[in-house]
Amino acid sequence: MTDARVLIKCRKCGARNRIPVTRLNDGPRCGRCKTPFPSIATPSRPVVVSDRTFADEVLASPLPVLLDCWAAWCAPCGAMAPVLDELARSYTGRLKVGKLNVDQNPVTASRYNVMSLPTLLFFRDGKVVDTAAGALPKPEVERYLYRFLAG
Ligand SMILES: [Zn+2]
Repeated sequence: MTDARVLIKCRKCGARNRIPVTRLNDGPRCGRCKTPFPSIATPSRPVVVSDRTFADEVLASPLPVLLDCWAAWCAPCGAMAPVLDELARSYTGRLKVGKLNVDQNPVTASRYNVMSLPTLLFFRDGKVVDTAAGALPKPEVERYLYRFLAG
């Protein structure tokens, strides 16, 4: 797993770069045009996303993003939190897990019509490609991920 690489397409020159997973947190740049890749760091824990950081953290992410829309008063959201922590750890370098508090970030929540909580939004290349509403057990989320990451 230490020599795993992730394929990142440079948004400036279009070159495809294969970046070792172990280098993702070192601020890697495009091999051709030297443009730094934005939001490339893939911490092994969920990233807090806000209305302000949404475009950078989610839409511009070269990695697919699983965004958890949650609220503090939502008990099922609390039940899902450990599942998302585990997924962020086991999918490091292949997936970014983000958490969006819908009460604090109403712009993004309403833009994506988040009606029920929790809602999982699956983003690739700045677009939602799948959605899952309601608390799901980990194997169920992994079934979504399997399909998401294969597509
Ligand atoms: Zn480039």
